[in-house]
Amino acid sequence: MASLPETIARILRTNPDALIACHVAPDGDCLGASLALAMACERAGVRAVVGSADGVPETYRYLHGSDRIITTPPDHQFSVGVAMECSSLERAGTFAEALTRCSTLINIDHHLSNAGYGNIVYWDTSAAAVGEQVYGIIQAMGTQITPEIAQCLLAAIVTDTGSFRYPNTSPKTLRLAADLVDAGASVHTVVERVYETRSAASLRLIGRALNNLTISADGRIAWTVITPEVLRETGALPEDTTGIVGMLRQVRGVKVALLFEVTPAGIRVGIRSRDAARANVIAETFGGGGHKGAAGFTMPGPLEDVIARTLAAVEKELAGV
Ligand code: 5GP
Ligand code: MN
Repeated sequence: MASLPETIARILRTNPDALIACHVAPDGDCLGASLALAMACERAGVRAVVGSADGVPETYRYLHGSDRIITTPPDHQFSVGVAMECSSLERAGTFAEALTRCSTLINIDHHLSNAGYGNIVYWDTSAAAVGEQVYGIIQAMGTQITPEIAQCLLAAIVTDTGSFRYPNTSPKTLRLAADLVDAGASVHTVVERVYETRSAASLRLIGRALNNLTISADGRIAWTVITPEVLRETGALPEDTTGIVGMLRQVRGVKVALLFEVTPAGIRVGIRSRDAARANVIAETFGGGGHKGAAGFTMPGPLEDVIARTLAAVEKELAGV
């Protein structure tokens, strides 16, 4: 029997076109995996378009093909739709509807929860990055891993493992990364772009966020708030909040870190945890999701209520670990 990567490779190869949609607030894994898959499709003679409802953060604009990512859903009906690490279809934002119009919908994800939508569900929680899964699909397609494809897949793996620092980094992850470097990709390039390059405004934003750090629950929870006013005063962009919640987790003794962002869509809560505390369980309480160590959700305000309810949910999780 064909494996899931083989089945997906066959579907992609035998159809005229594919729409590959990222989740809202796309990260390096989602963008890198989507662009790599699109390039492989194009090499196989399949027209492929990558869509991202929230566009492409500056950090990832160096990835090959990122300038061709569309932000408005197409009228055209694609034969294949690929939802890239969208735990539910809604995570594709404004592209969700276009995906449902595709004749075949493929759901590829590595998060701990997935709604199981679509005709083909390739859900592998052991993958450190969805880029790992896409690598297998591209291999099954039999298309060459060009240096550009390799760079996109490596960006996916490096960002979702925090440069190979998180516990999801498996021997398989490191072997895949080595293969990608062999194929022409560079870890240094990803690290340089993703971790070593920031705008001055984003550093000022980090300063403000860290300055407002609050520690609660006997030192086990660290949290801070970013409001539109703080963004305006620092000149930072919404995407510049990336990475801040991970910094809060560095505080000695902290088990769960929270970033509350006031956005037009509601209060966005980013969660990072360590040891036995499960970020995904906290997020799922409020309809979100993610991984054990990194998860999130968005809910309506007011901010004070969201903070109180989230802190209560975190304390409940901490009581059980
Ligand atoms: P981040 O805080 O970096 O945006 O997200 C951390 C992880 O949680 C990522 O894997 C992301 O896909 C997931 N995540 C963040 N927000 C949500 C959400 O609202 N719903 C779901 N299902 N997952 C989320
Ligand atoms: Mn991912």
